[in-house]
Amino acid sequence: MSYRIAVRALCEFAAKRGDLDLRFTPSPSAQAGIAGHQLVGERRGERYEREVALRGSYRHLEVRGRADGYDPAANRLEEIKTHRGDLSRQPANQRALHWAQAKVYGHLLCAERGLDQLTVTLTYFDIVSQRETPLSESCSADELREVFETLCQAFLAWAQQELAHRRRRDRALQALRFPFAGFRDGQRPLAETVYKSIHTRRWLMLQAPTGIGKTLGTLFPMLKAMPGEPLDKIFFLTARNTGQRLALDALRSLGAERQGLVGAGPGEPWCDDIDSAVQAVPLRVLTLTSRDKACEHPDKACHGDSCPLADGFYDRLPEARVAAVERGWLDRAGLRDIALGHEICPYYLGQEMARWADVVIGDVNYWFDFHAMLYALSQQQQLQVGLLVDEAHNLVERGRGMYSATLDHAAFRRLKPTLPAALKRPLSRVASVWQALAEESDVEYRVLETLPGKLINALQQAVSQIVEYQSEQPIALDSELQRFAFDAQHFCRVADVFGDHSICDVTRQSPRGRQRNTGARVTLRNVVPAPFLAPRFAAAHGGTLFSATLAPEAYYRDLLGVPDDALWMTLASPFQDSQLRVTIAARLSTRYTDRESSLTPLADRIADQFRATRGNYLAFFSSFAYLEQVADRLAERHPEVPIWRQASRMDDDAREAFLGRFETSGEGVGFAVLGGIFGEGIDLPGDRLIGAFVATLGLPQVNPVNEQMRARLQTLYGHGYDYAYFFPGMQKVVQAAGRVIRSGTDEGVIHLLDDRFARREAQALLPEWWPPATLD
Ligand code: SF4
Repeated sequence: MSYRIAVRALCEFAAKRGDLDLRFTPSPSAQAGIAGHQLVGERRGERYEREVALRGSYRHLEVRGRADGYDPAANRLEEIKTHRGDLSRQPANQRALHWAQAKVYGHLLCAERGLDQLTVTLTYFDIVSQRETPLSESCSADELREVFETLCQAFLAWAQQELAHRRRRDRALQALRFPFAGFRDGQRPLAETVYKSIHTRRWLMLQAPTGIGKTLGTLFPMLKAMPGEPLDKIFFLTARNTGQRLALDALRSLGAERQGLVGAGPGEPWCDDIDSAVQAVPLRVLTLTSRDKACEHPDKACHGDSCPLADGFYDRLPEARVAAVERGWLDRAGLRDIALGHEICPYYLGQEMARWADVVIGDVNYWFDFHAMLYALSQQQQLQVGLLVDEAHNLVERGRGMYSATLDHAAFRRLKPTLPAALKRPLSRVASVWQALAEESDVEYRVLETLPGKLINALQQAVSQIVEYQSEQPIALDSELQRFAFDAQHFCRVADVFGDHSICDVTRQSPRGRQRNTGARVTLRNVVPAPFLAPRFAAAHGGTLFSATLAPEAYYRDLLGVPDDALWMTLASPFQDSQLRVTIAARLSTRYTDRESSLTPLADRIADQFRATRGNYLAFFSSFAYLEQVADRLAERHPEVPIWRQASRMDDDAREAFLGRFETSGEGVGFAVLGGIFGEGIDLPGDRLIGAFVATLGLPQVNPVNEQMRARLQTLYGHGYDYAYFFPGMQKVVQAAGRVIRSGTDEGVIHLLDDRFARREAQALLPEWWPPATLD
């Protein structure tokens, strides 16, 4: 069996030494990089060969890649690298890596075409000045072969253990048994559907009730499909951290943690009820944590002169990498443990280990974002990837966020006092064009017909200068300047791909106490993420998006851009109708104008239900103000009902304290805001929660921004109101109310407290597995 590896991956593994150093980055955007390559290619003659596909082998290694260009007349192979900033400041280890790549291509070309000698040229192309800096070496075929063989030898032992791991992994997965005595009701059809869809290489949009074990029910069939398809990796993507914990729990129950024997064994809570208690699966599991959370030195910059964990990073990486694959189970704590044990950065060790892990658990942005690391990795290495996307209803909003950008004038002003002299000029140019844009109009909010070209140009120049400055001076990760540099760069990238799917708007920001219009927030606001997400769906072998709320189908199809042939499936409920009672208050209005008159009826209904069946309830409202009013009225009229309230800003302890009130056999009502931290992603099984009240349709606020979204969605799909207000609102209602039934033995009630829930179109959006609602 041979091991296939891309030229770039081979060189990064075998030729990278020294410090981690991001001073020469952020490098040009992918678009700028592609455009730069094209431009250089166009400058060459007609006989110049572009994108030359090459392959070769060394023992059981198969090495492949595409050289940027070959000029047969000059017998010159060219490797093009785009850059921005002063080339003389490029770290030596980065230059050495580029030479290694160029020479490996050189060897592959010589071997394929029988050349004795070749000129190998590294061409650096500055995307700002559009100047080329060529560096050439004349090499004999023997010299190039030696470079190639040395790198291959350095990789060979690793390749052998990779092949052995894959054989063991696949054998174990073929024999993998479901970890419990039986499937939960509804879990078997779920698992079968996921398995069939990945086998037919199709995407599956799966709507299934909460509580049937979706996480294990999707991971298990995906793992079973891994050897046969074959899949290189599975990415389990979540929109919330709670989903990551559930995925780790499911993998633990399958025995994945046991291979490293880290904290596993009989007596662990997850071992209860495990049928195959001795099952251990040699699966490498990695959780990815954001740089903000994983960084050990947020006051430092990511290079060896500043951060001790970047100093000598690549020298110590090989041993850390071996320790990491031996452990196999790399949750956040495990990864940090290994990184710090080898004195390297945990965040960048995580990035490295994504190459060698079998299952990677991370946020959805690792696949769908502009700079999505997992997506880029699978493109580079041509990986076959199976994707699972948990709580997929969030992908509309998350996708919009990924392809939107905001420039905040207040944050920009805060930069001024600490600005280094070298950056004063480019940033004052940004300030003046930004100011001019702000002063063009006195209205609070306006949509621009065209992009603010002058501002974007000024930002591009400023970003170049900051990158240049950064190569000389460390800028701490948590500094205002670094944040502005990221924001400005992101803004320019979003501007590059601006289109009908987005809106450019300007909101006036007047500093307190000043009358004059002195600033404006400029936003590139994505409305439809589908054009960006669609290629990411297409790039995977297949996958499943799952959620308890993926209706209506057309809404998610239009906005997410899932492939046309994606299967759409709603699983029947395994629960009995008798487990849930749904009541609609058909003569009660919670519209803004009816708020005052709704307070007493709402308080009385909550109290009546509490007296009828004592236990824990959650009550959801559209705002904190409304929540407080109803809670006060309840306390006044029914002081015997215990209540607790969500506050507008809750830290982790306050959040835990709120949830802690929902004790088994407890009694009382927790007041929360719909769409907030308690509206989804919390799990209160059994009698920790026996009912929910929802006193709002969850409609987003009518404001100028949402009205613009509505107008754009009306133009594009003819359903402006539904897509901007009604469907997102109802999705929040169903999510919140869905907290009540979490297992086959739960029982509870849902009170939908507004006459609009009685309308046909609202009832059509309630889950099929809810029993018909009673109108009251
Ligand atoms: S610890 Fe923080 S500053 Fe240091 S290399 Fe890692 S992310 Fe960068």
